Amino acid sequence: MEKTSSAYKVHIETFGCQMNEYDTEVVRSLLKAKGFVFTEDRECADVILMNTCAIREHAHNKVYGHLADLKALKRQRTLVVGVLGCMAQNLKEEVTVTAPIVDVLVGPDSYRQLPDLLTRAIASQRTGDIKKGIAVDLSEYETYQDIMPERAAGVTAWIAIMRGCDNFCTFCVVPYTRGRERSRDPQGIIREAEHLAEQGYKQITLLGQNVNSYRFEDWDFARLITTVANVPGIKRVRFTSPHPKDFPPALLDAMAGHPHVCKHIHLPLQAGNDRVLKLMGRTYSRKGYFDLVEGIRRRSADIALTTDIICGFCTETEEEFLDTYRAVREVGYHAAFIFKYSERKNTIAARKYQDDVLERIKSDRVTRLVDLQKAISLQKNRCMIGQTVQVLVEGDAKRSSDQWMGRTDNNITVVWEKRATGTRPGDFTPVKISHVSATTLLGDEVPAP
Ligand code: SAM
Ligand code: SF4
Repeated sequence: MEKTSSAYKVHIETFGCQMNEYDTEVVRSLLKAKGFVFTEDRECADVILMNTCAIREHAHNKVYGHLADLKALKRQRTLVVGVLGCMAQNLKEEVTVTAPIVDVLVGPDSYRQLPDLLTRAIASQRTGDIKKGIAVDLSEYETYQDIMPERAAGVTAWIAIMRGCDNFCTFCVVPYTRGRERSRDPQGIIREAEHLAEQGYKQITLLGQNVNSYRFEDWDFARLITTVANVPGIKRVRFTSPHPKDFPPALLDAMAGHPHVCKHIHLPLQAGNDRVLKLMGRTYSRKGYFDLVEGIRRRSADIALTTDIICGFCTETEEEFLDTYRAVREVGYHAAFIFKYSERKNTIAARKYQDDVLERIKSDRVTRLVDLQKAISLQKNRCMIGQTVQVLVEGDAKRSSDQWMGRTDNNITVVWEKRATGTRPGDFTPVKISHVSATTLLGDEVPAP
């Protein structure tokens, strides 16, 4: 008997940012509606999909490594291989020519076509008349507004409120892989938030490449985040990633004044030197960024800031790097993602500037900055020893199912031993901190009086 699509098993692997994780949930929803089923076990999958990231060389190479693994699997049995996401969009020729095992290639704006393309690819393998399915066009309108993502059970969820990016920072491939910036209708976002609250989710993270540039008719980000934070049952709202250029005072006031908007901002700095910032096309100066930090802290002194930094951007000198180093020390971030500059095809920097900082110098700058950040994070976490923090219980700790893991309002991970207290994921639990590392607070649950 021939299999129908309802019997086809799909295994999806996701690389990269939270937006990709969210897109995988959208893809699962679209495929499920057409009768596909999912498996965690790639060995028994009829279809293996990779939702890819093109942001740095490292992410890109990882996908190529996985494709090489799949080659052997594909020799043994019938298997459809699909590449989704940013790599599909940016590297269509490369992926089909250098990775001929790829049957289906679908960019971030074309997921609605995926069920049909997979069905055709499966049929073509059966007849031996192999045809590639390619859908990589960018759209000015697609926001998957009507799709309810197929989420894993839990207490925290993401909602993409906008897609694409118009900023064209010179180092960044996103405007080319994800296309023009477009915001979703707020009514759909609010319905999704209400639906999540009904299902027991407690925390929502609003997602966008430029999340605070959100605009839909007379709705801006301040109005949207306040409305989502007012949805009954939703106790915490986060957002990522904002751009420092879009923080009007009304947004800072809205955030500081709402008990459900978390006291954490991920505020990418990228570089702390004005010449480098200008070369990156970031549109703010070091002073502008520091003024923003001051404005944020004036309104909420206890807010946690985290950031992204790129080391070794084209022509960055040691002295310019030291400006970034000093900026990181002065701001005192809770955590930072520190990257080596990685030249990406088609970007403005790849076309106009020379990637002339030596690899070993880039690595050395990353190491120095990582060491600095670790020391700052550890010092900040040490100040928490003896304090009791309110934690949203997310689930078992990674290392042991005898421990719980959760996060504070300002997004610091907390781990503690399970006790017979009836605590469950989704609860808000007081934990008294006794030990810390640079990344985690450890403590004991405070029994209810
Ligand atoms: N939209 C956010 C912003 O403007 O800050 C950032 C989104 S980007 C997907 C995530 C981070 O990847 C960036 O903040 C940047 O630090 C890093 N990144 C992007 N392109 C890079 C490149 N070519 N090399 C190294 N890091 C890069
Ligand atoms: Fe990339 Fe800049 Fe857009 Fe962020 S704002 S996604 S770094 S182009």
